[in-house]
Amino acid sequence: MNPFDNREFNGHELVVFSSDESTDLRAIIAVHSTALGPAAGGCRMWPYASAAEAVTDALRLSRGMSYKNAMAGLPFGGGKAVIIGDSRRKTPALFEAFGRFVNSLGGRYVTAEDVGTTTADMESVARHTRFVSGLHRRQGEFGGDPSPKTALGTYLGIKAAAKFHLGRSDLAGLRVGVQGIGGVGYHLCKLLAAEGAKLRVADVRADAVARVSDELKAEPVAVESVLREDVDVLAPCALGAILNEHTIPDIRARVVAGAANNQLAHGRDGAALQAAGILYAPDYVINAGGIISATREYLGGSTEAHVVNEIHAIPARLTDIFDRAKRESRPTNVVADQLAEARIHAARRRLVA
Ligand code: NAD
Repeated sequence: MNPFDNREFNGHELVVFSSDESTDLRAIIAVHSTALGPAAGGCRMWPYASAAEAVTDALRLSRGMSYKNAMAGLPFGGGKAVIIGDSRRKTPALFEAFGRFVNSLGGRYVTAEDVGTTTADMESVARHTRFVSGLHRRQGEFGGDPSPKTALGTYLGIKAAAKFHLGRSDLAGLRVGVQGIGGVGYHLCKLLAAEGAKLRVADVRADAVARVSDELKAEPVAVESVLREDVDVLAPCALGAILNEHTIPDIRARVVAGAANNQLAHGRDGAALQAAGILYAPDYVINAGGIISATREYLGGSTEAHVVNEIHAIPARLTDIFDRAKRESRPTNVVADQLAEARIHAARRRLVA
């Protein structure tokens, strides 16, 4: 396995591997860019089938974080960590070992939660490093689980997309399909239901579906068919690469706007969505609420109101991308990538000047 030959390798600054026998830790940290500041991005725990698959995910996710942080105007570069393993078998000791690994990079990478990791896990990480965020909220300070903030930004982004593409000023009666009712998906469903959206939800976990079905009258649909549902908006909130040559032809929603990272299997899938008349909200723009929350917590000095205010800038950023894409007849993901790359390159030029 040569990371340099990996299709997802994109001039990443650093890819480091760590193993710890006593806790069974096997982790990879990928730092894509520190041009705008320390590389910030969460830690995912997932039972990858191979180390090569884990490296690919770390490379893709860390690049996405560079773009996300640049687009959100944060003073951070992009990085991501992956731990190979089943999160149902995780232990505090494993995250303490991971904390030592993060600390060994001396602040070049700052971690937080992602799929398979929680605030409690980050507390274990924090016993061995200060380069961590997403900790329990301390008295008088801003912080905590970033998922509700990701959900808020995603909800505001769905509203912006529905206004732009469907001419809707509110979401009452709008049919929204949500794939994945985890930390983000659940809070997103609450916000959407409060505005009268009609939810169709799918998750591999029956308890997650039952909860939103009971609490919010969401209609459960099959995991296998949620992407094909006859809805107005599709909100992917589970895992990546679900928008691809096999799924796109069957998507009936006119808007795809959700929180999952790396929704497009390939960049060209953005063009396929555009050709199908589907408005795609670039994932790293719409789902920036969590990293805004985590990095403001890390830097300190922010209040809940500051952070919520910053998240309220997401819909205008998306509308600008939608406008440019329409004017220039280009896919939204291409427009977003170019804007993000311009910011990262400008920062790099400032560093070497
Ligand atoms: P989570 O692990 O809490 O929830 C994910 C949910 O998806 C789980 O309930 C899981 O059972 C479900 N799921 C997995 N595979 C599925 C499938 N094939 N079909 C349907 N459901 C499936 O994770 P989360 O924190 O809610 O994050 C969701 C997505 O949003 C991820 O892609 C994550 O990277 C992204 N994201 C999260 C945050 C955050 O603040 N947590 C921030 C930005 C982006």
